[in-house]
Amino acid sequence: MSRVFSPTAPEPVRLTDAMRSVFVELLVHGPLSRAEVARRLALSPSALTKLTKPFIEAGYLLEAAGEGPAGVGRPSQPLRVDASRMSFAGIKLTADELFAVRVDLAATVRRETSRPLASHDLGHVLGRIAEAVEELSVPGRPLSAVGISLAGTATPGDPVVHTSPFLGWSRVPLARLVEEAVSVPAVVDNDVRALTAVQQWFGAGVGHSSFALITVGAGIGCGLVIGDRLVTGRSGATGLVGHLRIDDRGPLCERGHRGCARAYASAPSIRRSIASTLDRPALTFDDCLALAADGQPVARRVLDEAGAALGQVVATVANLTGPELVVLSGESVHMYDVCATAFDAALARHTHWTTAPVRVAVKPFTFNEWARGAAVTALQHLLLHR
Ligand SMILES: [Zn+2]
Repeated sequence: MSRVFSPTAPEPVRLTDAMRSVFVELLVHGPLSRAEVARRLALSPSALTKLTKPFIEAGYLLEAAGEGPAGVGRPSQPLRVDASRMSFAGIKLTADELFAVRVDLAATVRRETSRPLASHDLGHVLGRIAEAVEELSVPGRPLSAVGISLAGTATPGDPVVHTSPFLGWSRVPLARLVEEAVSVPAVVDNDVRALTAVQQWFGAGVGHSSFALITVGAGIGCGLVIGDRLVTGRSGATGLVGHLRIDDRGPLCERGHRGCARAYASAPSIRRSIASTLDRPALTFDDCLALAADGQPVARRVLDEAGAALGQVVATVANLTGPELVVLSGESVHMYDVCATAFDAALARHTHWTTAPVRVAVKPFTFNEWARGAAVTALQHLLLHR
């Protein structure tokens, strides 16, 4: 009973672990009847009443009288979280731009903005972050926390970004610097793990205690939830599947590996391979997908190989972690439509023969999902750890 739930509450709610469990259960699965919450968390009705009372009094939980199914005996009064009660900012840093959103407690995007990054100088980036947070601010409704996500080695429990190849950073205490710049609690996380957090609480992962997220885009990423826990590993370095070897006769990646997953299936590799073979340097990634869909032989072959590489990555992750579901996402996920046959065949071929077929959910992607992930990282960290 020592920590404050929200600096924005008129009367801050002090949280016990049992209170966190009730609140998160309602946030992720609600609205739920009291009986259902008590059943899910193995609580007595009186214990549940005691745990929910401070949230109801402070306006975080609402009782929706009359919404529940009518029944005999004790009336069922569904409880739900008032999503408008708290707000979070999420910021995704890329090599040349930052994307920012403001979300409510249900991770619904309420505002968004972006800023170009003219340099990777820390002072410059902090200045753009402060501008974005200012633009997302709403008078009288302060942000509860800010989440920052980037490609690299970072985790919310650690204020230091250990490495970020795109930004050329090493051991940068970004969370502390952002807190000083914007006067709001800040956490930093790897961008793929932040996307996984969205799926865990607000997306395809809800209801699954173990699932994997595989992203395709500039690189290939992997986030893991195992036994209801988002896996962070040491210093936040997990899910590094991008350079998994697929075929040592394959194309080279920028790190000099021959035939790694990234060399086959990242968007820049696919584009480069088709554009250079056809000697059409202006082709975009989407042009390449269109050519493959039309049956152009070079594009068709490159996309089939990309799909097969991706299927092998998914099978390998599934063999290692035994997920109930694999979610496929990322800014190039629409390539799946063009390479599904090769993907499915490789997935089946590389999945261990003793296991059931892997369930795959393909999620459409919008770029602000990255920033939304950063906001959900901040939300999760505040609700679970602060
Ligand atoms: Zn590689």
